[in-house]
Amino acid sequence: MSVTIEPIPFFETNYTWLLYEEETKNALLVDPGDFTPIDSIIKDKHLNLQSLLITHHHSDHTGGLRQFKETYSCQVFAPMKERDRISEATHYVQDMEQISIGFAQFIVINTPGHTLGSICYYDANLKILFTGDTLFSLGCGRLFEGSPDQMFQSLQRIKSLPDDTLVYPAHEYTEDNGRFALSLAPNNLALQKRFEQVKQLRDAHKPTLPVLLETEKKLNPFLLAAIVEEFTRYRKAKDQF
Ligand code: ZN
Ligand code: FE
Repeated sequence: MSVTIEPIPFFETNYTWLLYEEETKNALLVDPGDFTPIDSIIKDKHLNLQSLLITHHHSDHTGGLRQFKETYSCQVFAPMKERDRISEATHYVQDMEQISIGFAQFIVINTPGHTLGSICYYDANLKILFTGDTLFSLGCGRLFEGSPDQMFQSLQRIKSLPDDTLVYPAHEYTEDNGRFALSLAPNNLALQKRFEQVKQLRDAHKPTLPVLLETEKKLNPFLLAAIVEEFTRYRKAKDQF
């Protein structure tokens, strides 16, 4: 059984992650924020769209939901804490809840901060983690609803996952984030190397994602922050960068 995972870019910086099984063509989408550009890929590949996973209520993550549900009558998973803001979901999920959808078995991890109900989806066998707007490569989400302390704790939970986990964020922000990370650690050779690689990928219009969690643990300033005060300082500086 082989699972293929591909980014579908839409809007300026968003990715919907498409997962499908080659043999059955069964498919799922993470954060389908738009319908038409994403649906055209589903149709081109003749996929059987079965499930949608939603990380949080922002419209660039939920915008395609209603039309996908109407077209494919797929099941929709969304955070319980945001049930009032994501009315189209069929399953509202809580921290540590298991979701089994054929070729993948996810565990829900509550990661408040960007929004109060934000969640990540983790599959320990496939070693994949969908982080929405909580963790980006070399960055993290803005604190629209949660406190610095909440986001710091959320990132500690992500940090506790195995190094060989592949991280799939919902935005292509890596180059900007890299510029900020380098401003904090201009002499970090590994960071310089990753930034060069990121620039080359972007010049070639290629995604910089997914990224190994091991790389993020070593280079992402928001994961490197040892205490909440340090995290808060970086977050404030990034907001003004
Ligand atoms: Zn968001
Ligand atoms: Fe977003």
